[in-house]
Amino acid sequence: MDFNRSKTQFLMGIQTVSQLEEWLHLHFDVRGVAFIGRSNVGKSSLINSLVGNQTARVSKTPGRTRQVNIFQIFFQEDEHNNLPTYLFDVPGYGHAEVSKEMQRQWDDLLNTFFNLLSQRVILLNIQDARHPLQKSDEAFHEYISEFDQETFLVFNKIDKLKTQKERAILQKSKAEIFKRFKWIKQIYFVSAEKGDGIEGLKVGVGQAILRLG
Ligand code: GDP
Repeated sequence: MDFNRSKTQFLMGIQTVSQLEEWLHLHFDVRGVAFIGRSNVGKSSLINSLVGNQTARVSKTPGRTRQVNIFQIFFQEDEHNNLPTYLFDVPGYGHAEVSKEMQRQWDDLLNTFFNLLSQRVILLNIQDARHPLQKSDEAFHEYISEFDQETFLVFNKIDKLKTQKERAILQKSKAEIFKRFKWIKQIYFVSAEKGDGIEGLKVGVGQAILRLG
């Protein structure tokens, strides 16, 4: 599937558990890609750079997006068979600054999402290349290990790694990550802002979507 020949439109933002349950029940077998990461890792920027426009608004206020945003992407290859593909922008995890009540609402939404998500959705976990595997990232991976979702790890903001040495260290960590987190199938290094690695990510995710049938 070629992201460069696709159109994406925003479908809806879901804020309540009951609405999310209803949507996921109705779409129990859909094909798609879900984006999740700590807030401010560049999730919205990454979605925008994949779909080639400003579909996912870049939020400047950490923690503002408290809803699951659902987009529909139309690939040119699917013009005749009318198979929909969905993109999910999932609320970030690992906030220190939100209230307990807000955190609980978030957790409920996330639990609902992962418990009811179609098996034909690839998970893209986005992390900051400068701060890989933070505590909340590790906790998240422990959490998703019980769901059998195909997962890719995307290190964003590689433009911020100024030295070859910093880049080399991150590259080297790949082997350890694959060993520790067996459900991670691929690791990408990108800059949503500068475009580095984005074409490779488009190809990798496009192929994965194709494999989902
Ligand atoms: P989100 O909260 O994860 O959706 O993150 P956003 O997409 O809103 O981005 C958070 C901030 O990081 C914004 O100021 C972006 O401009 C910036 N940002 C996103 N991607 C990159 C990147 O690849 N490189 C750099 N240097 N900044 C980025």
